[in-house]
Amino acid sequence: MSTTKIGFTGLGVLLGLAGLDAQPPQTELKIEVDIYNYSAVPAETLARAEQETARIFERTGVATMWLDCPRTSEEGSRNRACVLPDAPTRLTLRLLSNSMADSFGAGGDIFGSALLPAREGFGVVANVYADRTRALAGGREFEVILGRVIAHELGHLLLGRNAHSAAGIMRAHWRAKDLILTQATMSFLPGEAKRIRAQVTERTMRASIR
Ligand SMILES: [Zn+2]
Repeated sequence: MSTTKIGFTGLGVLLGLAGLDAQPPQTELKIEVDIYNYSAVPAETLARAEQETARIFERTGVATMWLDCPRTSEEGSRNRACVLPDAPTRLTLRLLSNSMADSFGAGGDIFGSALLPAREGFGVVANVYADRTRALAGGREFEVILGRVIAHELGHLLLGRNAHSAAGIMRAHWRAKDLILTQATMSFLPGEAKRIRAQVTERTMRASIR
């Protein structure tokens, strides 16, 4: 049984596209995810992945809002969706191609990374190596697995350092059989959900002070 690892490290580039899941927030806690799709993930697949990520976060009591952002300055002149001031509740998610993952020096068993501040402050940028994730998924539901990897990396941003756990969506090593686990199993654990709510509450307060 091969072991797959969701990793840490990283840094990146910027760019984007647009896709909105018009799901009304069901809670007052909310994060925005700005997506820059530099990989070969089609818009429809990405929309379904976003739904899976959104479901995982909804179970923690946090709603997600998704924005597809321009990847080039030319796209940017047509799509102003992501031209907003930074805020701790706005997360940047970059979906990267294999060559980008390689250029970051990410080992072949690493499927994403989250950029955490060295000391204080809020982490707001995560990378998901989307084309590698497609290979990881094999013939299985790529969009569901992609949504789970996205949830894992956004979880790193909200949970801070040492966020891996032995079970749930924050497990460090995903075996092939983990990829077909049920939604209930691939969720944040109750303690993680509590920390995520506290973190989003803190970020929301900080955003309103700015
Ligand atoms: Zn991880």
